[in-house]
Amino acid sequence: MRLAERVTHLAPEGAYEVLARAQALEAQGRDIVHLEIGQPDVPTFDNVAQAGTRAIQEGRTRYNPPSGIGALREAIAEDAGRRRGIDVGPSEVVVVPGAKAMLFFPTLSLVEPGDEVITPDPGFPTYRAMIGVAGGVAVPIPLREETGFAFDLDAFDRAVSDRTRLIILNSPGEPTGGVLPEAVFEHIAEAARRHDAWVLSDEIYMRLAFDDVSVRSIASLPGMRERTVICDGFSKTYAMTGWRLGFGIMPQALARRIGLVLTHSVGCTATFTQYAGLEALTGPQDQVDATVAEYQRRRDVLVDGLNAIPGLRCQRPQGAFYAFPNITAFDRTSDWVADYLLEQGGVAVLPGTAFGGGGEGYLRLCFANSMDRIELALRRIDAALRKLR
Ligand code: PLP
Repeated sequence: MRLAERVTHLAPEGAYEVLARAQALEAQGRDIVHLEIGQPDVPTFDNVAQAGTRAIQEGRTRYNPPSGIGALREAIAEDAGRRRGIDVGPSEVVVVPGAKAMLFFPTLSLVEPGDEVITPDPGFPTYRAMIGVAGGVAVPIPLREETGFAFDLDAFDRAVSDRTRLIILNSPGEPTGGVLPEAVFEHIAEAARRHDAWVLSDEIYMRLAFDDVSVRSIASLPGMRERTVICDGFSKTYAMTGWRLGFGIMPQALARRIGLVLTHSVGCTATFTQYAGLEALTGPQDQVDATVAEYQRRRDVLVDGLNAIPGLRCQRPQGAFYAFPNITAFDRTSDWVADYLLEQGGVAVLPGTAFGGGGEGYLRLCFANSMDRIELALRRIDAALRKLR
C-alpha cells in the first residue's frame, strides 16, 4: 500500500506489544505479573467517576467549545498556575482528549519540515513519533544514570543551535523516574532563549514525586512563559487513563492556533469527561496524596529488591512510577532480557530500548501494582536471572 511518508515510520508502543504477548501467555494458562503498562492500578477515584456519570445523566453529552469548557479551563489555570508558581489565565489553557494530544498538536503547530527537535533518550516514544509526523529531525540527548538521568549537558550544548526549534523535557521522566535539577533547567532555559527555541515541557508526572523532592516547571524561569508549552493531564494523577483528558498551558496566541487544530481534528474533548476532570481538580485531594505515598512504599520495596539481586543495579526514582534497573552485568541486550523474563520468569517488563537507543542496558518496571505482585515479581526475576550467571 502506498502511504504518506509522514506515517510510515510509526511503530507500535512497546508497552502494548509486550502486553499482547503477556496476554497470549495468560491465554495458555500462565500466570504473568504485569509490570509493563504505565498506568495506576487503582480505579478512578469515586467522586470523580460519579461526577462523570452524573454529567452523562444530566445530558452533558453534546459538543462543547474546542479548547474546553470554561469552568475546567479556569480550574486548570488556577490549580496549575498555583502549583507551578506562574500566573495563568483560562485563555492560555487548552483542554485535549489525553495529554498525548498536547504532544502532537504543539509539535505540529511549531515544527516545520527539517527543523531540529531535541528530545530525551531514553524518552517517551510519542515524542519521536510526533517529530516524525511533523517532518522534524529528532536530536536525541542521552540521559545519564550517573546524574540521576538528567540531560547530559555536554551533549546538549553540542546539539543545540539556531536550527533547534523545540526542546522536549519530561520531569519527572518516563521511563527513568528522574527529576531534572534546577541547574539543568536554568542551563536549558538559557539555551532556549539564546537560540529562540520553544520548550515542550511534559509535566504529566508532576504530582507523582517522592521524598518531598521539589519539582519545578521550566515555565517559571524568567523569559520562559512565552516560549514554553506545558503538557499535563489527568491520566496518572487521578487514575483516569481511559477517560482521555489532558491539557496544555501556553501563550495565548499559540493556544488560539492549537484550538483551531482541535476544531478541525477531534472537534472537542468529551463533555462529561471534562466534568469529571473538574471534580478531580476542585474536589478533595487526599486520595492523590495517599496514592502517591503508596507508590513510594512500593518503589522502595521494588528498588531495594532489585538491588538485592546479584548483577542488577537500580537507582531510586524520585518521581513517576517506574524503576529503571541497569542490567549490563548480564551481557545481553535489553530486548533479550525482557523476553527472557517474560517467557521464563512470567514477569512482563519493557526493554529500555522501547524508549530509544539510550535505553540499551536497562529495563523498565512499573510499580503501580500491588505489593504482593511486586514481591512475587522480585522472587521470579531473582530466580530467572540467577540461572544466567
Ligand atoms: N507523557 C508521558 C511521559 C506519558 O508517560 C504518558 C502516558 O503514558 C503521556 C504523556 C500521555 O498521557 P495521556 O494518557 O494523558 O495521553
